[in-house]
Amino acid sequence: MTPSELSHCPGTSAPVDAVSEPSPPPANDIPAKLQNGVDKTGTPASIKLPQLLETAKEKGATDAVILAPHQVIVDETLAEKCLSPRCENYGLSRSCPPHVTGPKDFMAMLKNCEAALFFKIDLLKDLLFSSDRRECFRLLHQVASGIESKAIRWGFKGASAYAGGSCRNIFCYDEASCRVIDEKSPCRHPHTARPSMSGFGVHVAKLMETAGWHDDGPSPSPEGMSHVCGLVLLAQ
Ligand code: SF4
Repeated sequence: MTPSELSHCPGTSAPVDAVSEPSPPPANDIPAKLQNGVDKTGTPASIKLPQLLETAKEKGATDAVILAPHQVIVDETLAEKCLSPRCENYGLSRSCPPHVTGPKDFMAMLKNCEAALFFKIDLLKDLLFSSDRRECFRLLHQVASGIESKAIRWGFKGASAYAGGSCRNIFCYDEASCRVIDEKSPCRHPHTARPSMSGFGVHVAKLMETAGWHDDGPSPSPEGMSHVCGLVLLAQ
């Protein structure tokens, strides 16, 4: 995976020298729809959402925010970038186009969810673009799936997590093929591997902006920081 591929696919922005301390984002306001909501367990959403933010950090996120669904911007042209210029992982796993349902389906899911949790993991650029990058993305998928799992336990039965990068490249790189596509069998990593936001056209740069996380652009400094990002849709 090259740096230019990373800038599109794995929920990353371009490397930056330093990730500014986030100012308190308006995004962390509990969406109005949930402020007085109580789920089937009787737990007010206004309590569960802050706890999910804590869960994100416990699992390895550097920071996380709650967004209202309308704050998650989907741009179909971003999904088209998986095909042109064609990503080397295009079509190789169940989690990448054309095997994912794409932007239109994602927008429909947004209409049915109560909120979204967006998180980032700050990483040394040196590490993210090193031979250890696979471990960085493994962590990203672990955090995303871990939040999803906790959300489901807390009443968001329709929670779904999205990460970045190709799960084929991250989890099944030494396998001959994706088992789901080629063998019509269950995924080898169903509890961890999650689809990439890219295939659904999620506008990660806009999410970063909404979250109040600044990206100062590419830097030649190997000591600089970069990040990987994930998203969990919270639907009851
Ligand atoms: S089997 Fe491997 S490549 Fe296929 S969806 Fe699961 S993790 Fe991804």
